[in-house]
Amino acid sequence: MTFASLGLIDPLLQALSGLDYKTPTPVQARAVPAVLAGRDLMAAAQTGTGKTAAFALPLLQRLVMGGGQVGSNAVRVLVLVPTRELAEQVHESFRTYGGNLPLRSCVAYGGVSINPQMMKLRKGVDLMVATPGRLLDLYRQNAVKFTQLETLVLDEADRMLDLGFARELDAVFAALPATRQTLLFSATFSEPIRALAATMLRDPLSIEVSPRNTTVKAVRQWVVTVDKKRKAELFLHLLEKKRWGQVLVFVKTRKGVDQLIEILLAHGLQADAIHGDKPQPARLRALDRFKAGEVQILVATDVAARGLDIDDLPQVVNFDLPIVAEDYIHRTGRTGRAGASGDAISLVCADEVALLAAIEALTRQTLKRIEEPGFAPEHRVPMTSADGSVEKKPKKPKKPKTHFTAPAKPVPRR
Ligand code: AMP
Repeated sequence: MTFASLGLIDPLLQALSGLDYKTPTPVQARAVPAVLAGRDLMAAAQTGTGKTAAFALPLLQRLVMGGGQVGSNAVRVLVLVPTRELAEQVHESFRTYGGNLPLRSCVAYGGVSINPQMMKLRKGVDLMVATPGRLLDLYRQNAVKFTQLETLVLDEADRMLDLGFARELDAVFAALPATRQTLLFSATFSEPIRALAATMLRDPLSIEVSPRNTTVKAVRQWVVTVDKKRKAELFLHLLEKKRWGQVLVFVKTRKGVDQLIEILLAHGLQADAIHGDKPQPARLRALDRFKAGEVQILVATDVAARGLDIDDLPQVVNFDLPIVAEDYIHRTGRTGRAGASGDAISLVCADEVALLAAIEALTRQTLKRIEEPGFAPEHRVPMTSADGSVEKKPKKPKKPKTHFTAPAKPVPRR
């Protein structure tokens, strides 16, 4: 199958051949013709499946073919995403694929000045990528109008709900015209997402490109058990022993990110961090430096790393397991993209056994365990299995009853 056989026009085909995309991925093969035909879509496709191009390509085509003048402050295609990084990335993808097309676009998210975003919207745009909170701010200040809206895309819808955007989303939906095309993309389909889909979509085409709630197949995954206090030491040991090149490391909290960065820098390593406390320009700079290979280790929290598009990343390390099991799927999706192979290693301590069990139940697998010589944990991590169960602690043998009572301790003198 070729992109031309999906009905895409020449300017898009040229952009794709410039990127060396030869064949459509499964989600693209199914989504492109349906979106071109104006259908609604409900797609279970995680990052790494080529889902961005699956909606960007046909929507760009519809925008140019549809023609027409966009009025001031109006927007024709609106893409909602959960995080600023994903907003930048999706917008960049649209610009890359649509580089040969005469379209106006903009990106809007919080944490940066709203004025340039308002200026950009003044003449109207064909395409806007936004996070829900900032979009609402712009709407309430009359900087954006939805009267000409043709298509709404919800990208990583599950994540938007996880991040607590439900109310903002409802407010946005209420402002949109009822007649429109709606595309919903989500890595996983929980009940709230299905409920959202039921109210938002009309006779949607359902696409599921990889079995629901499974991690990317090409990724080798295993667990190294270790005591909590020795995780940083183990990480440094593995980094050297396995000769890791670039590594993306996930840490649970912002504080944890800073602590690990301090240790890595003290060891003379090139490391940088992305977390929610960092201003947006610093986050993007860290990501750019990592992508350019100037930084070997990028340490991130889940929210900050969501949707980062980093190609050919062989190594993902879960320094801490995620609190939300589904984040494990998103994290491992950073490696093994577009068919490449990759490794995802989790450093797991006894405290995290319940999180490990939840991940194994969600992904329906028991992760392979390894003990690194010299790092065997003092606090054993109980065994887990793919049905989510955790081995119970072996009962301590009861002390034999005796008739003797312990001699009273002498009262210390004061
Ligand atoms: P996504 O799932 O949208 O995050 O895309 C994952 C990665 O695959 C991105 O780096 C894309 O540039 C790349 N990609 C998307 N579609 C194709 C394709 N048909 N052939 C090769 N690479 C692709």
